[in-house]
Amino acid sequence: MPQRGTNQNYRRSRYTLGPVGGLLVLILLFFLSSRFNLSGTAPEGVESVPLPESPGAEPLQVYFLDVGQGDSQLIRIPGEAGYFNVLIDTGEYQYADGLTAYLEGLGVERVDALIATHPHTDHMGCMNRVIERFEIGGLYMPLLPEDKTPTSVGYEKLLDAASAKGLTVSPLHEGSAIESPAGSQFQVMSPQVDADWEGANNYSAVIRLVYGGTAFLFTGDAEQESEEIILEAGYHLDSDVLKMGHHGSSTSTCEAFFQAVSPGHAVISCGEGNRYGHPHRETLAMLKEEGVPYYRTDQDGTILAQSDGAVITFTTGLDPVLDRDAYRAAQKRAA
Ligand SMILES: [Zn+2]
Repeated sequence: MPQRGTNQNYRRSRYTLGPVGGLLVLILLFFLSSRFNLSGTAPEGVESVPLPESPGAEPLQVYFLDVGQGDSQLIRIPGEAGYFNVLIDTGEYQYADGLTAYLEGLGVERVDALIATHPHTDHMGCMNRVIERFEIGGLYMPLLPEDKTPTSVGYEKLLDAASAKGLTVSPLHEGSAIESPAGSQFQVMSPQVDADWEGANNYSAVIRLVYGGTAFLFTGDAEQESEEIILEAGYHLDSDVLKMGHHGSSTSTCEAFFQAVSPGHAVISCGEGNRYGHPHRETLAMLKEEGVPYYRTDQDGTILAQSDGAVITFTTGLDPVLDRDAYRAAQKRAA
């Protein structure tokens, strides 16, 4: 039986919070924020991180995995002891077998950092299976206020799997530290510790990875409101590759944010023929107008970006995590 005590902060309690309870939560959040803000990176962030004198022969690899209508990115940072693997999101529950097989196929045995950008199932639906299958270094997820905490089966399974393995979820928010090998640095810009949003999307962890002189920005489903706060904070956003927010929705990646990031390439993670109409035409029009080339998982399959610390190269058309024929059949049945 999974231990019920662990990760209790992430579960919705059966009792509503009174004013005293609310105060206790605030004190707890303050405690957690100081406890987990290990390195306290400067708000403005860095432009580059020097690579080690003898970096591995392998480049940094960033896979934008085709998980249909969802998000999943695998980052493999070369280091002395082999790759340091970071998995941001996993996609829906039904792609669990495909995802674990894909990671096994790449030779992944340990996920050094497992990150759920926010608790929606198109992002963490099969994270429980990743926890069960692989050795996990650290598990990170934003801590939502009690009344915004979801109760989906996928979310409960994630917490149960973590507890069963004795893993404690580390709260992920602005300033949280995620360890990484020499030559690389993660910076978490969002959500704010005291964030209070309507839906879960704006609680998405927004994370910038700098590798040598190159940078990647991962945005989950963060929307314009959250982007505005990141802009106001004055972060150094400039990045070579931007994962567009919320599957290319027009409610994300607002123009000011996009211009601050000023990406060389953009990637949209979405499912073929999805019912939300992602990516929205406004998003595609902006990319066209700004002259930024982009890739889409629904059209390009799994996309691999590789960085040697100075130059990024792309490979498209890699195998999807999901079975495309089965995906199309399911789409038809749902229509
Ligand atoms: Zn999503």
